Amino acid sequence: MRKIILLRSAFSQAWGVMFRRRLGEKIFVFIYPTKTRRLFQTFFCPSLRIVALARGDEQDVEIVFKKVISSWCFVSLPPADLIVEMAPDMQMDEKLIADIISAVGEHKNSAVGGIDANTGIKDLIFALFAASVADLRRVRSVCGISGYGRVDPEIIRNHFSPWERGKILASAGFILDCRIEAQISIPDGAVSLSRQMFDVENAFQDELFAAALAGVPWEKEFSKACIRCGKNASWRFVLPSENLSPELAWRLKRPENAVPLCRDCTRKLHFAKNEQVRRQLLWGLWGPRFEALESWFLAVRGEGVYRLPHNWDKAEHPLWPEEFGGKNWASGSGNVMNCVPREPKEIRRTQAQKRVLAELLGSTPRLP
Ligand SMILES: [Zn+2]
Repeated sequence: MRKIILLRSAFSQAWGVMFRRRLGEKIFVFIYPTKTRRLFQTFFCPSLRIVALARGDEQDVEIVFKKVISSWCFVSLPPADLIVEMAPDMQMDEKLIADIISAVGEHKNSAVGGIDANTGIKDLIFALFAASVADLRRVRSVCGISGYGRVDPEIIRNHFSPWERGKILASAGFILDCRIEAQISIPDGAVSLSRQMFDVENAFQDELFAAALAGVPWEKEFSKACIRCGKNASWRFVLPSENLSPELAWRLKRPENAVPLCRDCTRKLHFAKNEQVRRQLLWGLWGPRFEALESWFLAVRGEGVYRLPHNWDKAEHPLWPEEFGGKNWASGSGNVMNCVPREPKEIRRTQAQKRVLAELLGSTPRLP
């Protein structure tokens, strides 16, 4: 069920959807008293669809902006008085507009007249700095550093997952890039730690940023129903991550490398013993998304026909090179709009993939 959440105060608007991993069916509506240009940002946010609506004098509403925006971007919005943020796969249609207008009703922005329209942005930047400094404080405490001590790469590697390291690096970048412009005093230790983090993580920077976008944990939020019988299952991983460094191996923890199977069905299918069964289940379930992941896997190991392109832009395509996938989620895209982990729904499967699934799962597979 989609749920409309109204954000009316400067503070709630400053926080917006930050620190949420995914929006699911929630629709966030920012209410403003006037139609002016606004700067929005998606730091610490998942990828979002942002839609700006301008309400007219009558009941009419005009869509003046709509676009999917990836994490860590600023976006300049045209004059509008309702800004809507929702998951990239949600669409704005007539029905949703009507629902939003009726939910907004007579609600007004709770700021009283005369307050600086930029208050929201200042709160926001302060909140961002606070969050960034908190990230670096974790580094300090994990490494047991006092004052200007050194960051230990070994401890960082052992203690933080690649997506956390990517997020810490992003925080470090934010502190180094913005501290002067924002005129906020940052503890010296945090600046020194930020520089050190860039030195320490230098070799892996682009992989870690990719992990921060695409390597976030998902298992807890996903359905745990066995795809064969519907009973309580575990997600079982297939392509092996041995011999890959953690800065690369995070891709194999993606859902595209896993299938939910209960213990009984694991045994009946000889899942553990039969490599072909494992691969076919994954291939049938994830279709082009698994094929793209497998292409990356083979290329990284120097097997098969694929090579990783030299110009692979991991900020734009964090999951796998553009050439390995299709144009959208269903057809295996690994671009930033399609990198938030999702359940295996709306996958474009070939006849052969459907057939393999039916053979392995029985005539009525419980496909999500
Ligand atoms: Zn089962």
